[in-house]
Amino acid sequence: MPTSPSDLPGPGAPAAAGRPDAAPADLAVVGAGPAGLAAAVTAARLGLRVTLLDAGERPGGQFYRHPAPQLGAERPEALHHGWAAFAARERALRAHTASGRVTYLPGHHVWTVVRRDAPQDTAPAGAARRAPAAWVLHAVAGPEERAVAVPARAVLLATGSYERQLPFPGWTLPGVVGAGGAQAMLKAGLVLPGRRVVVAGSGPLLLAVAGSLASAGARVPAVVEAAAYTGYAPALPALLRNPAKLAEGAVYGGALLRHGVRLLTRHAVTEAHGTDRVEAVTVARLDADWRPLPGTARRIPCDAVAVGHGLVPQLELATGLGCATRRAADGTAALDLDALQRTSVPGIWSAGETGGIAGAEPALVEGEIAAHAVAGRPVPAALVRRRARLRAFADAMGRVHRPGEGWTGWLRDDTDVCRCEEVPAGRIREAVSDLGARDARTAKLLTRAGMGWCQGRMCGPAVAALAGEEQAPDRRPLSCPVPLRLLAGLPPADG
Ligand SMILES: Cc1cc2nc3c(=O)[nH]c(=O)nc-3n(C[C@H](O)[C@H](O)[C@H](O)COP(=O)(O)OP(=O)(O)OC[C@H]3O[C@@H](n4cnc5c(N)ncnc54)[C@H](O)[C@@H]3O)c2cc1C
Repeated sequence: MPTSPSDLPGPGAPAAAGRPDAAPADLAVVGAGPAGLAAAVTAARLGLRVTLLDAGERPGGQFYRHPAPQLGAERPEALHHGWAAFAARERALRAHTASGRVTYLPGHHVWTVVRRDAPQDTAPAGAARRAPAAWVLHAVAGPEERAVAVPARAVLLATGSYERQLPFPGWTLPGVVGAGGAQAMLKAGLVLPGRRVVVAGSGPLLLAVAGSLASAGARVPAVVEAAAYTGYAPALPALLRNPAKLAEGAVYGGALLRHGVRLLTRHAVTEAHGTDRVEAVTVARLDADWRPLPGTARRIPCDAVAVGHGLVPQLELATGLGCATRRAADGTAALDLDALQRTSVPGIWSAGETGGIAGAEPALVEGEIAAHAVAGRPVPAALVRRRARLRAFADAMGRVHRPGEGWTGWLRDDTDVCRCEEVPAGRIREAVSDLGARDARTAKLLTRAGMGWCQGRMCGPAVAALAGEEQAPDRRPLSCPVPLRLLAGLPPADG
């Protein structure tokens, strides 16, 4: 069921809602992944005027990725499950965009959201009883980095997540890619990261990635999972309430069997070997805390490693606004949301993986719940039940795959932890043991770990673990690099 994007605006589309004095949207949604897309089309159906901004060029987010048009893929849906759910919402987006109910702004990266002081309502006469715009979203658009400002009465943050990487010796070699990154290469670029790919890390994404790679023609010598599946036993009730999820797992398991892929649980890739690129990995058995057990190491030849230890909610816009966070079952910091998907800041809502890693299906459900709540409509009970069921399943998975503390045992002192600033583990250990750093912030100040281009997105979990604490929620004043001229252009009231 391929869908044509031709009547959706491209990234260079003029921003109709691009000025702070424009008529405010009833709702501005940041992120056109499953959560934001579902929220935008549901809110439009319920009568709201919506502006949907997304850094990407096509709707779908991290899950529903599209091959580049020049690749001429005829059946992009073949690499996805649940494509029909996306296609229906993309159709709705097109219809609402055509009718003017949704302003869709692809290629717009929102770098900050600020409270608007001016009490003036700029809404058209017919909408005069509506509340004035409370927020202005500032985005940078297109390759020319145009400044765009979107005023809105309410904001929904659906900014998703990024991959959690735990470093190991050799992880900077060419051929080592993120597990989600390998999936993205396949879905968006129709390319494989290598011919013989070891898939490693922890979490259900590994099975999906291994299945996709094997089906696309790669040899997968092993899936190396750090957790033990016996950890699911206490979660049996939550599992049984989600038969569709169990069936999905069985499909992945079947694909691995068919392709002769070995599944090694409670094992980790503790080193990648090679000169110009990966040639082999060392795999070791782990104890219950993820410490490599002496004498269990063995080599597996390969030319690529797809490695990921789950996902981390992407929170900087929300934490910049002061939204409260909570510690999720998988150890990450997620937004603290109420039953209506409200954050702790009135007027700011959130849905999907910002509220905890759970997958595309709950993201769709939560987007719809949030849209009902913003529109002041009762939330259908069926949606509430589905969210509870899917979230219980996600929490069970999160507990099983939460990294054990012993994983830092596979870091050598010369292993680069912060790739941007080239800070090895030994320097961070030294900052802790010799200089008295007791938290990641001090370790960062002493070593520069986390001060580079990615601003700690990659090394954050590792630096925190080496400093002996859990990773703090993302706190970055800007969610992406912004030209100084845009910063200088912010009106004082917004600053
Ligand atoms: C690399 C990667 C690969 C994955 N692969 C799979 C897979 O194969 N199978 C699977 O089941 N799950 C996969 N997942 C998980 C899955 O993508 C999520 O469960 C699901 O997409 C969550 O939906 P969401 O709407 O919350 O967030 P997302 O789908 O992540 O959507 C967030 C959207 O917000 C946009 N955004 C973020 N910040 C800004 C900003 N400041 N301004 C403007 N736009 C912004 C992004 O461009 C994105 O489109 C993957 C996740 C990642 C990170």
